[in-house]
Amino acid sequence: MDAQEIRKKYLEYFEAKGHKVIPRALLVPQDDPTTLFTGSGMQPLIPYLLGEPHPQGNRVTDSQTCFRAEDMDEVGDNRHTTFFEMLGNWSLGDYFKEDQLAWFWDFLTKTVGLDPQKLYVTCFIGDEQTGVPKDTESAKIWKDLFEQEGIDANTVEIGSEADGYAKGLQDGRIFFYDASKNWWSREGLPANMRDGEPGGPDSEVFYDFGTAHDKKYGAHCHPNCDCGRFLEIGNSVFMTYRKIDGKFQELPKPNVDFGGGLERIAAAAIDSPDVFQISLLKPIIDGLEKLSGKNYEKHESSMRVIADHLRAAVFLAVDGVRPSNKQQGYVLRRLLRRAIRYAFELGIEQDLCEKVAPIIIELYENDFPEVAKEKQAVLEAFMREEKIFRQTLRRGLREFEHLSSDQLKGETIFTLYDTYGFPVELSKEEAFKREIDIASDADKVFDKLMDEQRQRSQTASAGMFKGGLADHSPEVVKLHTTTHLMYQALKNILGDGVVQRGSNITAERTRFDFSHPEKVSREQLDEVEKIVNEQIEKDLPVTWKEEKTDEAFKKGASGAFGDKYGDTVKVYTIGDEEKPFSREICGGPHVEHTGVIGEGGKRFKITKEEASSAGVRRIKAVLQ
Ligand code: ATP
Ligand code: MG
Repeated sequence: MDAQEIRKKYLEYFEAKGHKVIPRALLVPQDDPTTLFTGSGMQPLIPYLLGEPHPQGNRVTDSQTCFRAEDMDEVGDNRHTTFFEMLGNWSLGDYFKEDQLAWFWDFLTKTVGLDPQKLYVTCFIGDEQTGVPKDTESAKIWKDLFEQEGIDANTVEIGSEADGYAKGLQDGRIFFYDASKNWWSREGLPANMRDGEPGGPDSEVFYDFGTAHDKKYGAHCHPNCDCGRFLEIGNSVFMTYRKIDGKFQELPKPNVDFGGGLERIAAAAIDSPDVFQISLLKPIIDGLEKLSGKNYEKHESSMRVIADHLRAAVFLAVDGVRPSNKQQGYVLRRLLRRAIRYAFELGIEQDLCEKVAPIIIELYENDFPEVAKEKQAVLEAFMREEKIFRQTLRRGLREFEHLSSDQLKGETIFTLYDTYGFPVELSKEEAFKREIDIASDADKVFDKLMDEQRQRSQTASAGMFKGGLADHSPEVVKLHTTTHLMYQALKNILGDGVVQRGSNITAERTRFDFSHPEKVSREQLDEVEKIVNEQIEKDLPVTWKEEKTDEAFKKGASGAFGDKYGDTVKVYTIGDEEKPFSREICGGPHVEHTGVIGEGGKRFKITKEEASSAGVRRIKAVLQ
């Protein structure tokens, strides 16, 4: 069964179970200026899950187009795309676990035809701190469902993700994980929930591709392992409780919120761990192979990026976004330019959008009439953007001719990169094409110049301060101040061994590298989140002063490892001058007071923690 058919059958299945099929919400939320994109099926339904009556009744279903800019760095792996469809069904105080789990199971095994032997599930283990009980009901329902297929489903107690890597599969089918994996609330863990907030356990279904475990991720494989053997294909949230005066009370009419990735279910249906093999993505990859004359197997990651970015771009444009320098328009521009650059490196030097966008439109125009309707406008906007960007690339090429004579030197590669944004790989390929020699020390020289450049922009001396942000958009500035808060919070929780090793901030997220010898647990990350959100709520003033470098360090200001500073530095203080929350050497700019970060109900959230290199951890975090 192909992806288009799975979408259709899913909606039909839940319609037959009394659900009203509702239209997708646009990718750009219409009545919520604080959120750039619709990122889940649940998002547009929040008011109804909180109690407002839905005009279509208490059973609704849809396929919600989602865009997650924060997943952009993940694209290239086997299962993440920035744009995807989330199949959803909701019980607004109507049916509960028994029906939900049985229906989804029935849909997967009977309608889609997945082999039950390849399905594994997870349930909530309970939370001692807040006294929320283990979800034995869901586990019991699953046990019976497996049994009907002749499968004796063992239950296994895991706990945290780290426990999973230590304990492994242990011949289990039903796995109990803690709140970091199997609990939903808008604030994360049960302990972090604000008064009045709803939350509850969830239960996830995983498909087993049977691929070999990669020990890079941990000693043993388990359903929530990142090695790619198990793919999460659906998540049923049972909104069971409301927190009142710090206690969990059962809602009189609990809700069900289900979300399952269409692309991932479709990948399971063809038993391929690579989502780009499904019917909604493969034709785009085929088109790229034809255009470039290159093989997908040899260029997996870049072809995935191009296919994903152009598909996302088409849907953003259908929903009214146009390339620009701010907000959603900026994200669209980045998607297109990244796609064009990656394609350029594959040898596609013209007409990328003109050739590929129609393939994408064709895949969707039958099921989404708005795609057919916007076709011409989208193509024109993309071709205009491609023309502008190619001029930049071409200017780089012209300079290439000027600068390189019979040998391509590291200095030239650097100048092209630094001044024209001309990619390093392109310089080398260009040299190759023109049969120009590449100097043997080109890489070394380039790296050295890049290093010097980095030092220059970091060195603070006579009016030139470290760390000036390239992008001064309000989103980036907010995340910059947030990063200071996070740096201090990490020190508070993990100790003074935490030293910044690098950072990178875009409009969507902050990425922060720091020294720390081991994985940071979800509990510790939650503590960090809590501290940061508290500082945002306190609306602390953010001020700066120029200080003598040694004085600044004596007074406890933080800096980044390996940075060299001049005689005087700019020091940013968050909070009261006498007893500040954080003091950091930095070029700015920052928000004037931390409350600005939380405007529109935004909360700080850590989305990822992973190893960056030996002894260095990397965190990604967002405001949402
Ligand atoms: P992951 O840990 O794999 O990133 P998630 O925990 O972020 O997934 P949810 O937020 O629970 O996923 O979203 C519900 C469903 O949407 C998932 O079960 C998955 O099938 C799908 N999904 C989530 N993110 C992506 C993505 N970037 N690309 C494709 N499908 C996705
Ligand atoms: Mg994710």
